[in-house]
This record gives sequence, structure tokens and C-alpha cells, in this order.
Amino acid sequence: MSRAEKKTDDDIPARISEFVRADHQATTRTLSYEEYLRLAAADPWRHLRTSYQYIRDAILSYGSGAVRDMGRTFQSYSLFNDPFFGGQKRVVGQIRAIAALFKHIDACAKQEEDESIYILVGPPGTGKSRIFTLLEKGLEEYSRTDEGAQYTVNWLFRERFEDEPQAGGMGFQHLKDLNRETGSYAHLPEEEIFSRVECQVRDHPLSLVPRRIRREILHRLVDNRREALRRDPTDAARTELARLDAFAVPHKLIEAEPCRNCQNIRDRLLDLYKGDWTKVVKHLQIVRWHSSLEQGRGVAEVDPGVNVETEASAASIDESKAILSGLLRGLRLYNFHGKPVSANRGLINYQDIFNKSHQQLQHLLAAVEEKTVTFGDVTMKVDYAIFGSTNLPEDRLLEEDALTEGLRDRIEKIPVPYLLNHLEEAEIYEPNIREIRKTQHVSPHTVRTGALFAVLSRLRVPGLADWFTAERRRIQQFEHDKARFEARKTLLLRQEEAIKRMTLLHKAKLYAGEIGWIGHDRREVFTDSFMAAIRDEHRGDEGTSGNSPRWFKRILGRLSMDENNRCINAFQVYAQIAEASGDEAQALLDMVQEEYSSKVLKEVEAAMFEVSEADILKRVEGYLEHAKAYVRKEKVQEPFRKDLVDPDEFLSREEEFLEIPVAARSEHRVAVVQKFGKVAMASGARPDPRVAVPDLIDRYRDRLNRIRHGAFNFQAFLLALDRLDLSDQDLFTDLLPPPGTTVADRAVAEVARVINSMRRGSALVGDPKAGYCNDCARKVIKYVLTNPKTRAGFFPG
Ligand SMILES: [Zn+2]
Ligand SMILES: [Zn+2]
Repeated sequence: MSRAEKKTDDDIPARISEFVRADHQATTRTLSYEEYLRLAAADPWRHLRTSYQYIRDAILSYGSGAVRDMGRTFQSYSLFNDPFFGGQKRVVGQIRAIAALFKHIDACAKQEEDESIYILVGPPGTGKSRIFTLLEKGLEEYSRTDEGAQYTVNWLFRERFEDEPQAGGMGFQHLKDLNRETGSYAHLPEEEIFSRVECQVRDHPLSLVPRRIRREILHRLVDNRREALRRDPTDAARTELARLDAFAVPHKLIEAEPCRNCQNIRDRLLDLYKGDWTKVVKHLQIVRWHSSLEQGRGVAEVDPGVNVETEASAASIDESKAILSGLLRGLRLYNFHGKPVSANRGLINYQDIFNKSHQQLQHLLAAVEEKTVTFGDVTMKVDYAIFGSTNLPEDRLLEEDALTEGLRDRIEKIPVPYLLNHLEEAEIYEPNIREIRKTQHVSPHTVRTGALFAVLSRLRVPGLADWFTAERRRIQQFEHDKARFEARKTLLLRQEEAIKRMTLLHKAKLYAGEIGWIGHDRREVFTDSFMAAIRDEHRGDEGTSGNSPRWFKRILGRLSMDENNRCINAFQVYAQIAEASGDEAQALLDMVQEEYSSKVLKEVEAAMFEVSEADILKRVEGYLEHAKAYVRKEKVQEPFRKDLVDPDEFLSREEEFLEIPVAARSEHRVAVVQKFGKVAMASGARPDPRVAVPDLIDRYRDRLNRIRHGAFNFQAFLLALDRLDLSDQDLFTDLLPPPGTTVADRAVAEVARVINSMRRGSALVGDPKAGYCNDCARKVIKYVLTNPKTRAGFFPG
């Protein structure tokens, strides 16, 4: 074993203990009540938050940005891109659903009375559960940061009460030694604690402040801090002040009641100490707590099968409690049971919420309206956000009379439909494709083909009749302003024309932000309001029906099952869809094929007739050099020639090739040299001809392209394509075969070159596995060359 290896091995335990210590130090804190009050006073905004404010801040802590979609701007939140598992669990698309969810959370953070039950409504497989998984994980991680620190209370008891006569002078003296100003037990060594009662629902430490004085105390915390910040000229202070100025002391915290146990202990201690509050709070230990779904703290999930009953039972009397019960004789302590215990100060998420009966959901009404939950005979104040999800379609939801009207009024539905952007839809299948690629090849456009069909099946034909009527009425107001009115009217007419010509395929591409199909002269017709109207027309309908992502996953699964199928391609997907769908799907399939054809046509064309950039540049450089000599009336040295020669000979040959008329040639040479010189002067260096003389570059490319087309021997190529043995992979990854002399030999070399180019071309995309293999490259080339439609596109005219 080498030294380096040994060191690494030795480092593992050290690395673990170092991490654990740092994490523990950063996330553990024990405070006396006074210390906590000072902490809260220094940062009231952080410590006085409600559950909704906390959830909102947690989401924002991961960052946000703006996204444009169909004429509108949405906020997007990085949390839902999954910063935890490298993006593997990110929510694909659903930007509207997430924006709506955040808007609700933000509204509740600002206005507590707006609180509702937020239910994500959509068909299976649309990412509803991922949204919650990431939200829950986000809370857990946020609670481990400085900004997300949350605190709750423990009650500590020593063997005797200091006021009891038995405690004597000694005990009191001893206590004073440990005293942190107040004689708090919070920092007592563990062996001096005889009993500890932890608050099961993680009460907010400030909820222990007597309610009648709490409003005043909380406001003073905020006001004092505000004043301190006003005296502080730093930018940080100004930022915090702005935040604090926008902050209202939450009503919930003013009205909060500690749980029944904490109330009982507090009241009993107040009696024992004859109303001396300072003595009561020395029993309080304020500790940091972390949200955890697993441990049922601040996050609760209710699966369809889970019981939502709550109850309270008498606490079992363990030894420490026995001592406690001796000290606080007759005090009743409870054990609270049920999901709200876990949810308090965080969130609860009801999966498949309408799976529960009316009675089982009725408790939600009190939770959302009164912010109370009843445990057996004990009613408790709670603070948590209530979320849910359902797969039920909208019309079925309305029929659900399981809900009382009160509850129904408190429910906000957030649609989470199937995706309508086929590029995003294709992303959903990435994990499946990665899996298939371990054993089989997946040809380019295979996933897109399925994704596009799935999205098309969810879309409705655009019409916009109502919108046009409303717009025509709206532009009447400009009638006095003739120019403006006419401009609007013309625009509207062009928009009506655009809608008439818009196929479902166009619409699908528009939804994906692909506007290549819109002519440049028609782009301005697609205004933001027009796009938004197109998107809104069938809102609530588009994405609720059609093919689900699971449907296409099944097709992919079927294709990958066949072990003899070494390369899964778009033709197979097409055949599978055609077989599985009825006749009514044919129109959609035609669109999918149309899209596929136009994509591969371009690829094959580029591979067959591509003219390398280097070839073009070489010729452009030659032209430039000779033109310069021509303008300066100099001669040039040609290779293989002894004497200097007139550049005119070379230039005329090139201009012949470029099809520049004889009369225009001299002017062309001067213009090119001047243009090049101007750019060189401006940049102070020899410029790239691609920047300086792009017209000349284009001219050469166009000519070279046309020459290649003209020299193409269609029959020989097809024959060679069929006959070539493609099992010899090296043939295609290494050098080209030497050019033969016969037509057939040349065609073989040509096929090899084209297939190579297809493989290379797609490898440029980044992922080499995303490209073509020999097998699918051949299939695609053959398709393009023999399919009447693509062939027509290939050899126009
Ligand atoms: Zn409590
Ligand atoms: Zn392949």
C-alpha cells in the first residue's frame, strides 16, 4: 500500500468526525430564556416568522429568476431544479404551477387571514409529488442554515425547587456559581438535571410570554431593532431595515398558545413561585430544532392509507417524570398523537387528499380557519401550512360532495397539467433513456418523436374567436386617432390570418419557444398579448387529457425489451404509436412525421454536401491576397512558377467560379480589399475573413454546395448504402477508404464519408451517445433519399 493511499484511508474517520463536529456546532444551540430574548431582539424578522413566512423564505433562499413563456414572465425558483440530488429530481416544466403555489404561500406570509388549503390538481405523472418532495427537502436544509434557525422549549427540573426549604443555603449557593445572571438551568451539566420535559409540538419560545403582554413585547422587539438600525449607516443595516419595515408582527404569534403541557407547567410554576416570572423561566431551556420528515418535525406527509386521527393520552410515567410528578404534584401531562404534532411550525401534505372521507377531512376546517387542532379533549393552537394533491379530474372534483361548503371555500386548486412544451416533455424521459443506453443505442429524435406526439394529443386547435371579438371592440377606443386605429386593425387582421394558418404542430412549436416556422416578416404579429391569448384559450382543458408520460414510457420499455433490437429509433416509435392509437391519431402522426422529416432532411443534407469551413477559408484567403496585389498593381509569386505573375489570372478563374460577371469583377476586387482594410484598421489587427468579408464567404459556400449537389450520383450512392458492410465500425471511425476509380468505389467512399459525418455531427451536440450509430445513420439516410416528400426537399426543382 502506498503512502498516499494510507493517508486517504486514515483521513476517512477524521473527515467524518470533522464534518459531524462542524455540522453540530453550526446547527446546535442551547440558550437560556434571556439569551433567547436577546437573540430575538437582535433579529426579530427571523425569529417572529409564521410557518408560511418561513416556507416562503426557505424557497427564496435557494434563489429565483424570471422566465418568459408565451408572452408572459414568470418567477422561477431554483429549489425546484433540485439542488440536492444534482437535478435528478427536478420538476420539469410546471413553471405556472410552481409560480401559482409560491404566490399563494407569499400571500399567506403577508396576510394570515388568506390562508387556505392548497391542492395541486392534475393527472398522474405531472410532477406534483416532486414539487412537495423538493419543498420538504428545502425546508429541512434551510433549517440547518443560520438564516433558517428555529427554536423551541424544554422544561428542566432539578431535584428540588430552590424555594423549597430543603434546598437550603448550600443548593442556592451552588446554583449561584452556575448562574448566568438569572440562575437559569439551561446550561446546567446533564447530571444536575433530574427531569426534562420536551415540548412535543415544538412551541415557539415567544408563545410562553403571557398573552396579555405579548403584543406589546413583540412590537417592542421590532421597534427597538428598527431604531437601532436607523442609527446604523451601513448598507446591511439599510437592507435589514427595509425588510423590517415591510414586516408586520404576525397575529398568529400574538395569539399563539403554548401546548397544554407547556401551559400546565408554566401555570403550576407561576403558582409555586408566587407569580415570580424570572423564576419560572429559569426552568426553560431554548434549543434549536431542525425540520425533518423522517423524524416528524415540521414536515408531515399523509399517505392515502394513513390514519389522520389525533388524540391525546396521559403521559406514561417514567422515572424522571415520577420525580417531576412528585415536585409538581397533580400536574397533568399528555402525549399528543397525530400528524399535526409533526406538522406544527412547518407544513403538512395530504397525498391524494380526496381519498379521505368527509369526516376525515373535516378537521382541516378548524386547522385552517381557527388554527386549532383537537387532540381528544385537548384543543391546541397550531401553525402550519396545509397542502394536498389529487389526480381527480376537474369535473369529478366538483361532484365531490364529500366536502362541506365551508371546507370547499377554503380550498385553492392549483392546476398541474401534463406538459405542453414538447422539449420539456422530452426531458422527462431522460432517466429512461439513460437506462436504455446501457445496453442499446437510442437514435437521435427518438424521444422527441414520442414527446411531440404526446404533447400534440393534449393540445386544442386555436381559434381565438372570443379574443378577436373583444380586441375589435377594444380598438374602437383609438378610432379618433386614425393612424393608431388603422395600425391596430391591420395587426388584428394579420393575427386572424396567422391563427387560420396555424396548425396544431405550429402551436406545439410555439409553446416550446420554437419560432423558426414563422417568417421574419410575420414575427411582429406574435405580440405578447396575442401569444398569451393563444396560451389561455384552452386553459383548464389543454393538458388534462391526451397521452400521459407513462404511456410513452411504456412504449420505450417495450422497445428496449427486445434484446435483438440494438438500436431504438424514431421509426420504431412511430410504428408503436400507430399500432397503439386509433385512426383519429393519424393526423397527429402525420405532423410528427413532418417534423421528423424536416429535421433529418437538414442533417443528411449537411452530412452529404457539407463544405468544410477550412476549404472555404483557404479559397477566400487566396482571393484576398490576389485582390490586394491587384489593387496595388503588384505581381504575386505562384507555387510551381518561377516568375512573378499577374494576379488577374487567378482572380478571373475564381470569379468565373463565383459567377461574377466580367464587367463587375474589377469593382468587386476593389470593394473586397477596401472592406477588409476598413475592418483591419478599426480592430488594429488582421481580422478574421469571416467577420470582415462575410459576403465573400457565403458566396463561396453557396457555390461549393451547388457543385457537390450537381456531382451527386444518386443511384450509385443508394446502391453503395445498401451494400456496405457496416459491422466494421473502425471503417467509420478511422480514415476514409481510399477513393476508388470506378463509380461504385467512389460511391462507397462517399457513403462512408457521409455516415462518418452524421456520427460526428451529432457528437458535436455534446453527449457522444446522443449521436447516430452506423445502423441508424444508414436508416435515416435511406429514409431521406427514398421518401418522396423528403426527396423532393432534397432535390428541389
Ligand atoms: Zn409545548
Ligand atoms: Zn443507432
